[in-house]
Amino acid sequence: MATAASTPSSDRLTSYNPATGQPVGTVPIHSAAEVDAAVARARVAATAWSALSYEARAEELTAFRKALANHAEELADLLHRENGKPEIEAYSEVMMALSHLKHAIERAEAALAPRRVSSGMLANFRSTISYHPMGVIGVIGPWNYPMFTPMGSIAYALAAGNAVVFKPSELTPLLAVKIAEIAAKTFALPNLFQVVTGAGATGAALAKSAVDKIAFTGSAATGKRVMMAAAERLTPVLLELGGKDPMIVAEDADIEKAAEACVFGALTNSGQACISVERVYVADAIHDKFVDEVVKNVRALKVGGDDGDIGAMTSPAQVAIVKDHLEDAIKKGAKVHTGGPDAISGNYIQPTVLTDVEHGMKVMSDETFGPVIPIKRVSSLDEAVKLANDTTFGLGSSVFGGKAARSIAGKLRAGMTAINSVMAFSGIPSLPFGGVGDSGFGRIHGDEGIREFTRVKSTAEQAFSIPMNMMSFRQPKDMSKKLRGMIKQLYGDGVVARATDAWRKFRG
Ligand code: NAD
Repeated sequence: MATAASTPSSDRLTSYNPATGQPVGTVPIHSAAEVDAAVARARVAATAWSALSYEARAEELTAFRKALANHAEELADLLHRENGKPEIEAYSEVMMALSHLKHAIERAEAALAPRRVSSGMLANFRSTISYHPMGVIGVIGPWNYPMFTPMGSIAYALAAGNAVVFKPSELTPLLAVKIAEIAAKTFALPNLFQVVTGAGATGAALAKSAVDKIAFTGSAATGKRVMMAAAERLTPVLLELGGKDPMIVAEDADIEKAAEACVFGALTNSGQACISVERVYVADAIHDKFVDEVVKNVRALKVGGDDGDIGAMTSPAQVAIVKDHLEDAIKKGAKVHTGGPDAISGNYIQPTVLTDVEHGMKVMSDETFGPVIPIKRVSSLDEAVKLANDTTFGLGSSVFGGKAARSIAGKLRAGMTAINSVMAFSGIPSLPFGGVGDSGFGRIHGDEGIREFTRVKSTAEQAFSIPMNMMSFRQPKDMSKKLRGMIKQLYGDGVVARATDAWRKFRG
């Protein structure tokens, strides 16, 4: 099954254009048996792929990267039609996905090079850590960044020597099928990258299958179900889940730049990004000016149309969540500066700026995932940090300000922070990407993201023999006494322990 469309299936799934409501195309709904068969085929590919040198894999992956770049127009068109995002955002997504693929190809060998480490008291040993492909990685993806997000797992998993079976969101399957078609034409090995299509049941089948790891990106609720399904076989999971990213704007921030970045961070992809700016805390002294600047920026944006800045929401279900959050906030006292629930028309939402928001409102605690900017006035940076950390999520975050910005960033309980910018960490391929708490665990991108798709092996090689061999029953009669002395000497108050402790202090 190089492509989803090539597999017979009894039922089909239709992908719709959220801007027009028209069908874009259909794909099969793959059964659990078909998913298992895809994983079995992937295992054959994985064995051959893992036996290749880094150089040989890099050549194949580079050809794949070039083929994807050569199909950029078709990929961006599908992104635009299935997801609803404007053309410029679609191209920007293709570019970001390819920058990660390039990075994964270039970094794999160095990131996975075996490492010599200290052998401690077993000084006659040569100790090495090495990294090995896991086998078959199951990737389950969301609809909001249907190319960039899964590529964060797919590229790194392939570069680390694994085969991949990918289950895209049921809202954006055609793009994945296109990528699989391109892969099938590029890779010499059949079934190295396969796509299975369908809704939650197909994803659940992949989570239960014989894959060696599941890399899931989606909501926290589904992530928990995936983890439970994977637990049956003790399959390790990587969970990239939702967020409620805070932005803090300090008194000495450049207000114009902070407002411009805030509007982009909150509204790009219609606010449907896991690392969207979802709530903003602004120092009292600049709050009003910042709000004016944000409102001015927002009012200059065009919603919908071929030249629109803000595209259609990808699904009516998400529109309903955004509407609910707005109504809840207004009922509890929030002030609407522009937009609002009445400005929603079909799948289009006018970007909404709210002030007078409180943490008891859904818009400040739950993932809104829409074009909404709730701004809260704070009396101190300590209050801002406390409120920013008052969440079960912990994915991205951002800080605008001068001197204090770095120290604020260090206090945020989040996987990633941008200083005087928003979202930048996702576009820097050497930075690991991932969250804490309800935002999940494990990392994609960077060296950590490559190692995530390997099994770690420790090797202790005896380089030469010494008289005291601890790995033997043949010990002198007074060995217990000797050990007792050594424990005190090495780890208690003995001369050796005191000397090494003093050396550590001296080194600082
Ligand atoms: P979702 O959880 O509804 O679906 C994600 C995927 O899981 C889909 O492919 C879906 O078919 C599949 N699925 C559904 N039920 C399943 C089950 N029981 N077992 C296995 N798979 C199942 O998420 P979504 O609505 O597609 O995406 C939006 C969410 O994704 C948001 O919460 C967003 O923040 C998050 N997200 C996170 C990141 C990140 O890197 N942290 C990136 C993008 C999106």
